[in-house]
Amino acid sequence: MQEPVTIIGAGPAGLTAAIVLRRHGIPVRVHEMSPDVGTRLSGDFQGFENWSSPQQLKDFLKEVGIDPDFLCEPYFSGTVYAPGMAPAVITSRKPIFYLVRRGPMADTLDTRLKEQALALGAELIFNNRVETSAGRVIVGTGPRSADAIASGITFQTCMENTAAVVFDNDFSPKGYAYLLVHEGHGTLATVMYGDFHREAACCEKAVNFFRREIGVAMRNERQFTSYANFFLRDSQVEGNRLYVGESAGFQDFLWGFGMRYAVLSGYLAARSIIDGTDYDSLWKVQLKPMLQTSLVNRFLLELGGNTGYRWLTRKFQGGNPCDFLRRHYNQSFIKNLMLPMARKKFPFSPRFSA
Ligand SMILES: Cc1cc2nc3c(=O)[nH]c(=O)nc-3n(C[C@H](O)[C@H](O)[C@H](O)COP(=O)(O)OP(=O)(O)OC[C@H]3O[C@@H](n4cnc5c(N)ncnc54)[C@H](O)[C@@H]3O)c2cc1C
Repeated sequence: MQEPVTIIGAGPAGLTAAIVLRRHGIPVRVHEMSPDVGTRLSGDFQGFENWSSPQQLKDFLKEVGIDPDFLCEPYFSGTVYAPGMAPAVITSRKPIFYLVRRGPMADTLDTRLKEQALALGAELIFNNRVETSAGRVIVGTGPRSADAIASGITFQTCMENTAAVVFDNDFSPKGYAYLLVHEGHGTLATVMYGDFHREAACCEKAVNFFRREIGVAMRNERQFTSYANFFLRDSQVEGNRLYVGESAGFQDFLWGFGMRYAVLSGYLAARSIIDGTDYDSLWKVQLKPMLQTSLVNRFLLELGGNTGYRWLTRKFQGGNPCDFLRRHYNQSFIKNLMLPMARKKFPFSPRFSA
């Protein structure tokens, strides 16, 4: 009998790896330290981006082996607020992002991935914190430290479906605040890349901003805070372990759209076990260029300040936002030249641990 592959962490990265391995008949044992999946999230809405690749998100998920049978709603438009500018309404022919829900509830990405993995015969062990294991191991334990924090609320509302984002360093230092409403439920948060000690005040200001500008009426508000971790390292293989998702630093340095990285890296780690290929070679082709570009994008965004926010907003408004974002999320000669400067400015320290 084949020894199961050990997967540490039942987030999108670990569960994708489990699904892909099971589809190839390979036994897997997933260890999750919490009593259920998605417990670090709060039923909040997140945007699964649909711009970094010409392939539509749902086609990408199906190709990987995931059935997009969770709440996964296309959003084609939104409003962007930048300092000193009138609100900019942006629209797109193809979905800019798909709204998904995160957490241990019924229709979330996390729960459906868990159910798909179980239906394929994966073994899931909850309340089981694991640091290491013999045999083949995939580590998908999520963020370890906070390079950015998201602080916000989930709520119920009678307002119609909405997406809005605001760039304002007063309450989202070097980040942004967002409002997502879907079918009577909403999420509003500020994402901060610094000044973490001002978290409570920034969150309150973001709530007040959306109340004032959009008139969002909320009830049953619930507060949440969570964090994201970014780093670049040269290898994601340590001994018998392959690192995936945020525990590998696979994140969008620019804005924290990490779900695509999590799913893709889980898929690649599984493929490397199925095909006997080198995992480092796989992610270096499919993920590293985007990671490096996103680091340069962060460098440029912080350099540009309010002028950069206004430039971005005009670009979103002026054409097809997905095409514009795809160009800027993928490698270019100029951005490659800027990489050493960006790396110098953000000397993230890579660490290996479960
Ligand atoms: C508030 C917030 C908003 C976000 N919004 C977006 C968005 O709009 N779009 C987007 O694309 N991304 C967004 N992200 C990022 C996205 O959620 C993450 O990039 C993604 O969840 C990472 O997946 P993962 O599988 O690597 O890690 P996680 O989802 O963190 O899962 C890791 C799992 O491992 C478990 N674990 C940890 N250590 C151990 C251990 N030793 N043993 C066993 N189990 C362990 C944890 O309990 C957890 O369940 C957001 C993140 C936050 C916090």
